[in-house]
Amino acid sequence: MKKIAIIGRPNVGKSSLFNRLVKKRDAITSDLAGTTRDVKRKTAIIRDKEAQLLDTGGLDKGCELFDKIKEMSLKAAYKADIILYMVDGKGLPEEEDKKLFYELQAMGKDIALVVNKIDNDKMKEKLWEFYEFGTDAIFGISVSHNRNTVELIDWLYEKIPDEDIIKEDEESAVEIVEEEDDEISDEEFFNQYGDEEDDGFIYWDEDEDDVEDDSIFGQNDRIKEFDENDINHIKIAIIGRTNVGKSSLLNALLKEDRSVVSSVAGTTIDPIDETIVYKDKQLTFVDTAGLRRRGKIVGIEKYALMRTKEMLENANMALVVLDASEPFLDLDEKIAGLVDQNRLSCVIVLNKWDIAKKEDHDKIIKEVRDRFKFLAYAPIITLSAKSGQRVDKLHDIILEINENYSQRIPTSKLNDVIDRALRRHTLPSMHGQVIRIYYATQYETRPPKIAIIMNKPKGLHFTYRRYLTNKLREAFDFTGTPLLFKAKKRG
Ligand code: GDP
Repeated sequence: MKKIAIIGRPNVGKSSLFNRLVKKRDAITSDLAGTTRDVKRKTAIIRDKEAQLLDTGGLDKGCELFDKIKEMSLKAAYKADIILYMVDGKGLPEEEDKKLFYELQAMGKDIALVVNKIDNDKMKEKLWEFYEFGTDAIFGISVSHNRNTVELIDWLYEKIPDEDIIKEDEESAVEIVEEEDDEISDEEFFNQYGDEEDDGFIYWDEDEDDVEDDSIFGQNDRIKEFDENDINHIKIAIIGRTNVGKSSLLNALLKEDRSVVSSVAGTTIDPIDETIVYKDKQLTFVDTAGLRRRGKIVGIEKYALMRTKEMLENANMALVVLDASEPFLDLDEKIAGLVDQNRLSCVIVLNKWDIAKKEDHDKIIKEVRDRFKFLAYAPIITLSAKSGQRVDKLHDIILEINENYSQRIPTSKLNDVIDRALRRHTLPSMHGQVIRIYYATQYETRPPKIAIIMNKPKGLHFTYRRYLTNKLREAFDFTGTPLLFKAKKRG
């Protein structure tokens, strides 16, 4: 028989759910023989299937310390086949819970996140916050109000094999009362939001990203741990073809009145990297050996591209250096294209601005935008590495863009924007099928990655995705960072 463990902090509603699932007869009788002190077993009835419920009641006794909760949870989970991790929907997601959840997930057992106390429609909004956990198996329920338990029961039912179907004479006297989902209609839903002027414009673009509907929430793809060190350490690749002024820019950046550090505690710094500290952030210019030894990179196209690729692998930001005093070349485009491929944050540095003809200034910037469309998200800075003009501005731009690249948009805010966007332009149907977006959640940073959870992922046309991207870029500052989407089927 499958064993189910209900795990979570005190007072989240574990025992209420436990009592709901347990067969009444067993709840009255004493515990089964052979149970341990912390974990007792009762029979659970899931529709017509039977399972064992591990009594994790001990979790609530003298368990104010999370370490203790964790220890007991792991113990119970170890014995279980199916884990229900329960949290209180009235609170906010907590890092400790997330970490423990991931640890339990790593056990490779069936595990669901049960967000309890979603007692009314208003509370449903709170549920969004918990999508941060990055799991598909998430259920917002109210045990005490008996709301929305159907999906959870469905999920449990599916995890229990048919061989555990109870023979008729054993059928339980207790049934779990199931309630239909009381989802509000589209009309009601949309009416909650104010009307906006419709500009009737959907953003069309040629290039289509891949629509993926595979699981975004695999072991490696779950939300990355928030790591401050990551955010405080920016690895920057200065790239561009020969003679655009990369070495001059590096020197100008290092020469500014800032401490150049050769070693920082706790980090190994590659001698070919150069690191400075600026406003408490480490700025490491990666793989600068070739730039330090001037003119050593000869402009053989293939070699230049290969080297650039290597540099970008070690970086999370690229400074794409262009020579404003000369026409742009195909090689410029090819090199810049690598930034796009590597999903890096980016600044376009239009160098040699001192010798670019004044009357051409506007034209040059327009040309950059035309030719480097795939870097539309990158800001352009015009400067002179030689004279040092505006080089000092570049440091702050780098920090700003790193912030944008590292930010996490709360799920509720994200969905406010998506809901508004959906209201302005309803999703077009596909072959007569209604396409629905249920919600969106950011599941990764650096760069920000957003999952759009929907009924038919393939139905998210790229023009509509383009439109959503633009709406998100209007609402949040994603300057300098790519924004990635995955359309995902609700599991
Ligand atoms: P790299 O091959 O990209 O590293 O380019 P370098 O930094 O070696 O610069 C190539 C040439 O352009 C050198 O002669 C530099 O002095 C010159 N140069 C670099 N930046 C500027 C600039 O902003 N203005 C002007 N006028 N010349 C520059």
